[in-house]
Amino acid sequence: MPDKLNDSINEFRLAIEIELTDLISQSNQSSAERKPVRLDQQSVGRLSRMDAFQIQEMAKALDTRRQKRCRELNAALNRIEQREYGICEGCGDDIPEKRLQINPAARRCVECVK
Ligand SMILES: [Zn+2]
Repeated sequence: MPDKLNDSINEFRLAIEIELTDLISQSNQSSAERKPVRLDQQSVGRLSRMDAFQIQEMAKALDTRRQKRCRELNAALNRIEQREYGICEGCGDDIPEKRLQINPAARRCVECVK
């Protein structure tokens, strides 16, 4: 881990933990929307049934993205523990702190992401 991150590492850890907590609570809140749509409801018309399917599909897609982000954030926490945080996996250089502030789970510098 770059020495210059010593002072700010706790802020990054905190930012990661806050985002993780937020994602988990969002996922819990939307779990009902991802449940299979019940088709036997007479009161549900054809159009609104399609809406229900669309909402379910959107909720599932959103949750897939959330799960992916959770894995990235957990991996970043691991790198903090291993003191490998802030080092680009592509070129081995330090990832600029500004970039980590924008995305604390970044594994590569901007050049290596291109
Ligand atoms: Zn790089």
